[in-house]
Amino acid sequence: MKTSRLYLGALILMIGTITLSAQDDQSIIWDHEDVICKEQEHAEFKIQQRGNRTAFADQTDIYYQIMKWDIDPAQYYITGEITYFFKSKVDNLTAFHLDMANELQVNSITRNATPLTYTHTSDQLLTISLGKSLALGETDSFTISYEGAPPSNGFGSFEQGTHAGQPVIWTLSEPYGVRDWWPGKQDLIDKIDSVDIYVTTPPGQLAASNGKLMSTTELNGKLIPHWQHRYPIASYLVAIAVTNYSAYSQYLPLDNGDTIEILNYVYPETATQSQTETERTIQIMANYNRLFGTYPFAAEKYGHAQFGWGGGMEHQTMSFMGGFSFGLIAHELAHQWFGDKVTCGSWTEIWLNEGFATYLTGLTYEDQSPDIYWPQWKTSTSNSAMSQPGGSVFVDDTTSTNRIFSGRLSYNKGAYLLHMLRWIMGDEKFFAACRDYLDSPGTAYDFAYTAELQSYLEQRSGKDLDEFFNDWYYGEGFPSYNLTWTQQADSIVFWLDQTQSHPSVSFFEMPVPVSVVLNGAPQTFVLDHSTQGQRFSFPIGNTVIENVSIDPEIWILSKNNTVTEITTSTYQPIGQNSFNVFPNPAQSFVEIVPAKDVFAADFIDNLGRKWKTTISAGRIDISALSPGYYILMLKNSNGDLLSVQSIVIAR
Ligand SMILES: [Zn+2]
Repeated sequence: MKTSRLYLGALILMIGTITLSAQDDQSIIWDHEDVICKEQEHAEFKIQQRGNRTAFADQTDIYYQIMKWDIDPAQYYITGEITYFFKSKVDNLTAFHLDMANELQVNSITRNATPLTYTHTSDQLLTISLGKSLALGETDSFTISYEGAPPSNGFGSFEQGTHAGQPVIWTLSEPYGVRDWWPGKQDLIDKIDSVDIYVTTPPGQLAASNGKLMSTTELNGKLIPHWQHRYPIASYLVAIAVTNYSAYSQYLPLDNGDTIEILNYVYPETATQSQTETERTIQIMANYNRLFGTYPFAAEKYGHAQFGWGGGMEHQTMSFMGGFSFGLIAHELAHQWFGDKVTCGSWTEIWLNEGFATYLTGLTYEDQSPDIYWPQWKTSTSNSAMSQPGGSVFVDDTTSTNRIFSGRLSYNKGAYLLHMLRWIMGDEKFFAACRDYLDSPGTAYDFAYTAELQSYLEQRSGKDLDEFFNDWYYGEGFPSYNLTWTQQADSIVFWLDQTQSHPSVSFFEMPVPVSVVLNGAPQTFVLDHSTQGQRFSFPIGNTVIENVSIDPEIWILSKNNTVTEITTSTYQPIGQNSFNVFPNPAQSFVEIVPAKDVFAADFIDNLGRKWKTTISAGRIDISALSPGYYILMLKNSNGDLLSVQSIVIAR
């Protein structure tokens, strides 16, 4: 705890207060909060509907699927045929399990035209008897033919709508909607390593999907585009959308002479406007390429397909978009690295998808609007994260869908956690660690956990980040800093304290940037804050100090910070060294020894508010004062200053 300190030869001339809460400017941060809100809404609904997770999902490894669908957007119906190629991950595998909605009907399950037996039970589990026993590592395949009207529930995984009088059907499976429209493993455990997708549609319709458009064939007057995807894909990221799209491509040129295609399927009635808006994808992608390595599916394409839902969804290589606002384009594109290439291994670690996508949206503003939108993004995102005193990025209550998909915590505090790691590590090491996480075996094109990210960050920084993750990931809340400073001879001296908004963290160990204007030029001092009342001294020569502020660039989640100046004076307080103030911390009273000359005292709190009292026999009743940190000024009967002390009132 804090101990009593003396400020030698000091007289308080000015008390300054700086509060780091700028006004909310969400309207200018485009639709950032709206994107979050929509995603949260959708995911919550699906989670409520989810039922059981895929049984025995880890017994098999699906390495290839051929997926054929027949969709007429005017009909709320799907007909499908899927062939699964898989490897057994156990010995004596005799059955294969898939999630499949009860509304869908199996027509047949065959291996090389030979029927296999199966059960489709009321818990929406399809169990296929393989008719033989597979050894560990042995491969097999079968084909499921099915059809039906998928369950309709308003936030559906399979949705029908209209635009300008034209029908559209789209899918959106995250997190547990796969089974509503195709029999699959919807757990975060087995990416399908490769897929070929064929969608039969009526003439005049285009079907958007994952991967590269290889060909479009015509059969009996119908169109069959063939999409081929040769990268591992989580089941929930497989998607199709069908309507009378207008299609156009835009291209990002790469340094090596190649280009990345950005293929846009948009509603024809707004195609001209969309073309202007989607053009911005090029510059956003160029920045992500620079920071996080080339777009992970560059050999195929990136794309947008317009759909009838208000938000967006980062389907692999083809984001589905309700519109083409700047923020939405940046967010969904970011997910191609964080969410698609590397996918959170559990929905409780969804911050690995959403914290990163939120942060990358911020990095887009930093790149394109460093003086306006980037500071506004930081203000808005940090304000949201700190709008309540508690709450961790770590999901401690997995039964609460509100909690898992919390925009404040999984998105905004998650994004700020990354921003603080960047501050601690420096740009070079931070971005290198992010690339390690994206590119290393075990996480690249796979599922990942927070512990893996932490280990890459630790390897690059050479720092043990347990304390950081304990405080900021598992722990709740944020600090409020109280900075006192003075100019002594040729040095600037700081004393730094903090309080915590939530009792789960006793102290946030952080390098705290303090900006000081010296002879008109701003300079940043970094105070490596490890204990209360810590003193820092920096030689500055004969310099005029004009302004001191804590973390003006908002590297750290902190608010209600105060800055208090104690300016050296030629006036020497009488008997500065000869007073003892105790107890400190104090509860309801303090004693001053010796008491003889002390007649009055002023307490100044962190907000600069002054509380005056008179003293009799060296005792002051402080029960009316709120707990906190105070500057105490002792005066004699003439009002002359005798001593300046600091004191903590704690109850
Ligand atoms: Zn997202």
